[in-house]
Amino acid sequence: MSFFRSVLGDIPHSLMGVTYSHEHLWLNSPRLASHYPELLLRDFDLILAELDSLFQLGVQTCVDAMPGRSGRDTEKLKQLSKQSQVSIIASTGVHLEAYYQPDDPVLAWNRDDLARYFLGEIEVQTEESPAVRAGCIKLASSGSRLTDQERERFIAGAIAQAKTGCPILTHTEKGEAALEQVEILLAHGAVPEGIILSHLDRRPDPGYHREVLSTGVTLEYDSCFRWSKDKSDPQSFGPEPGKNPTLDLLVELLPEYPVQFVIGMDAAKSSLWESYGGTPGHLFLITKFKELLHERGLLSDLIDGLFILNPARAYRFHRSL
Ligand SMILES: [Zn+2]
Repeated sequence: MSFFRSVLGDIPHSLMGVTYSHEHLWLNSPRLASHYPELLLRDFDLILAELDSLFQLGVQTCVDAMPGRSGRDTEKLKQLSKQSQVSIIASTGVHLEAYYQPDDPVLAWNRDDLARYFLGEIEVQTEESPAVRAGCIKLASSGSRLTDQERERFIAGAIAQAKTGCPILTHTEKGEAALEQVEILLAHGAVPEGIILSHLDRRPDPGYHREVLSTGVTLEYDSCFRWSKDKSDPQSFGPEPGKNPTLDLLVELLPEYPVQFVIGMDAAKSSLWESYGGTPGHLFLITKFKELLHERGLLSDLIDGLFILNPARAYRFHRSL
């Protein structure tokens, strides 16, 4: 039986349910506080309130995309999961360097050091909580080519996946370097079904997406609410009135690649959270945006795939228990 690894333990992947595939449910570190205070998410009760409202609408699983040392707290994620009943997948890995203290040794580690660190967090425990193991490897590239150090991290991620089956979720900088990311991961032992690339919809070029999809990996779109000209009204879509490139991409590509898309909010700022008084709030995805997918004529089976079956395929461990 395949499983996914939640902060509360391993769960059969068939029970993943409606899944938000790239989220930020807790963000707190000295580095974020000093350089990115707008990203801080550390009011437990407000975060829990947003998760409660998601659970009421049937959302069962969220993937937390912040790896250790960059703002993650797996003990908080565990408590949030317990109290909200939403399953949460925590990430190990290495994010963009900007989110770390400049002297954090993890930034200089080579592939062997990194693979050892990832494996320890996946198989034994995460740094903040001995009770929690990571169920995802988050990797990031910062531009149109990977730096040497970013390559080491991707190679380490592939090594860790080859040993454990743990899925890999990557950050692309506005969709850039996607093919290079895939090439490195596949060359070092990762499998396409276990690779999820984020943010491709920030470069809304269907031809480019097809090229990436032809490798067999999964794409995660998370800009469905970012095209609004009027930030207080996510319905006022830009860049042209009535246009939403994320929606347009899904209408065009999901029927062609029905199992290779997942979707999320990537709402890393409290100003995007309803419980913090922001907009559009996490419910936007499962309510308004889902309605828009139906209105544009996508079949229910395809939409269910996007929210349920495809995340279960991508975020399971890619071997038997
Ligand atoms: Zn993110």
